[in-house]
Amino acid sequence: AKEQTGNKYQLYSPDIEDRSLESLQLENDLFKALDQEEFVLYYQPKVNTQTNDITGVEALIRWNHPKRGLLAPSEFIPLAEETGLILAIGEWVIKQACLQMRKWHDQGYTWLEVSVNLSPQQFNEENLPYKIEKIIAETELPPQFLELELTENLIIHNTDKTLATIQQLKRLGIKISIDDFGTGYSSLGYLKDFPVDTLKIDKSFIDDITTNSNNAAITNTIITLAKSLNLHVIAEGVETKDQVDFLSKHGCLLIQGYFFSKPVKASQFLNQYLLLTKN
Ligand code: C2E
Ligand code: CA
Ligand code: CA
Ligand code: CA
Repeated sequence: AKEQTGNKYQLYSPDIEDRSLESLQLENDLFKALDQEEFVLYYQPKVNTQTNDITGVEALIRWNHPKRGLLAPSEFIPLAEETGLILAIGEWVIKQACLQMRKWHDQGYTWLEVSVNLSPQQFNEENLPYKIEKIIAETELPPQFLELELTENLIIHNTDKTLATIQQLKRLGIKISIDDFGTGYSSLGYLKDFPVDTLKIDKSFIDDITTNSNNAAITNTIITLAKSLNLHVIAEGVETKDQVDFLSKHGCLLIQGYFFSKPVKASQFLNQYLLLTKN
């Protein structure tokens, strides 16, 4: 609709106009969300299927938007990355996760670990190790109970600097996990150079593990690889008993997924899982 000149907005179809206004509004809201304390962490248990013990949790961010309700990461993390806000948000996530874990430790659950997802921008930030060191000092969480989940694609780029960063992080005493393992476009060579602790098998392999022999084979290979490199291995997105049985039969005892629990609020995690399982 170009006929009415003089107003550049009429160059756009209402549809596109709405959408861009909407994302502009969302961006505007996102800038205020930290100050207004609208973010919240949900926690999804990691479970040993042999013993039924909860070994730790993954912290997953949600945005409690004043008008739109609870938003999933897919609805705002991309925008946070575009705007650079991910650095401040990501730092808040690490701090919040450590504070919460410190509380649970103080309540007696001293074995629990927390893992936190890291965006590429955060990982590439020059002073990330320093920021984390500071958070560990402030929250007094023993560093071995904090794990960072990095994706493979983040790890394969500029290997020298990447290696240096990972070594700095490891020197703090924290743990490193490779998230969505098997989905990246990397050769496996980095595994012998980078001091990582855990491989997390991607949900896409787990989904049809009992019906798709390729995904079953890939999963087995990852489990075997982890064993031979002396790494921990965990499966994500586990939803069914059949998947649990397959995984434990092939030596992967750690799982995370709806089969055991969806991500839940801290209070629910305490009430539903910790208080019921203590000693
Ligand atoms: P991810 O790190 O791969 O996290 C796993 C996602 O799978 C989570 O979605 C979780 O709720 C979901 N999930 C877990 N078990 C199951 C299951 O059995 N079935 C199904 N269908 N889904 C399951 P969520 O919370 O929406 O997070 C999506 C992604 O957003 C995460 O994927 C992660 O990449 C990113 N993300 C979440 N929190 C943060 C954060 O604090 N910082 C950054 N940078 N990214 C985050
Ligand atoms: Ca993750
Ligand atoms: Ca993942
Ligand atoms: Ca995944």
